[in-house]
Amino acid sequence: MVKSRAGYRCQDCSSSRNLEVHHCYYMYGREPWEYPLDTLRCLCRDCHEKRGMLETVLRAKFADLRSDELEVFKKLISNSKLAYNRKAFFEFLHSIGDMDSDMDQKYEEMKKIKRFS
Ligand SMILES: [Zn+2]
Repeated sequence: MVKSRAGYRCQDCSSSRNLEVHHCYYMYGREPWEYPLDTLRCLCRDCHEKRGMLETVLRAKFADLRSDELEVFKKLISNSKLAYNRKAFFEFLHSIGDMDSDMDQKYEEMKKIKRFS
């Protein structure tokens, strides 16, 4: 069903080779076919591997956040602006990402302040 819904194409790169079904999450005791269809993605093997690593890295980074801070991320990606203006939403996030070096510098400054307080 997942592959059919995706037109037998990888949902990330459009390849039609080595297609697999990616579960965006797992719950103990639940069978692979017992997940909502919209939590599954049709991905080629390469994109599947990349996706798994990215989700692992994100989960690890979330370890640093309190639940109320994590709730902000949940609201951000659940927001209707993402559903109705996906392109603008990601352009905005990319514009933030482009400020990485500036943010790295500010982060280093914050760490120095914390050290002396
Ligand atoms: Zn792919």
